Amino acid sequence: MKNDCIFCAIAAGEIPSFKVCEDDLVLAYLDINPFSEGHTLVIPKNHYTGLLDTPADVLKEIILRVQKVAAHLKAALPCDGFNVLQNNGAAAGQTVPHVHFHIVPRYGAGGGEIAFANHEGKMDALAALAERIRM
Ligand code: AMP
Ligand code: ZN
Repeated sequence: MKNDCIFCAIAAGEIPSFKVCEDDLVLAYLDINPFSEGHTLVIPKNHYTGLLDTPADVLKEIILRVQKVAAHLKAALPCDGFNVLQNNGAAAGQTVPHVHFHIVPRYGAGGGEIAFANHEGKMDALAALAERIRM
């Protein structure tokens, strides 16, 4: 493994994967510990760690593949809906530092367990925060 990255090794065919589709730039394969049936990862074959260091032209191509794979999964599984997730940094739950998009098929009306716990926002705090971080 040239750079100790498991997803680079998968892209290079050095580690097997349950491939869903592949082209020159992008590979999609089943997550080995799926949240739901058909949980698929979409990665660029080149190594970037996350959203912020992936070049814009590459990112555009990846997200178009995510759309294509998601549409295919929805019809082929079939599933009722899907989540697209992309974690950045250990604090966000990223365990493999090679940028990847999760496509998580969802079944039924339930909503299920992918949950970010919301809390009620305080209007003055939100206003101050927006002022501080506005671009
Ligand atoms: P993240 O937490 O966003 O970094 O997601 C990494 C994902 O990669 C997890 O959902 C793992 O189950 C998955 N994963 C790790 N190793 C493999 C592998 N060899 N093949 C397929 N999926 C993997
Ligand atoms: Zn990599």
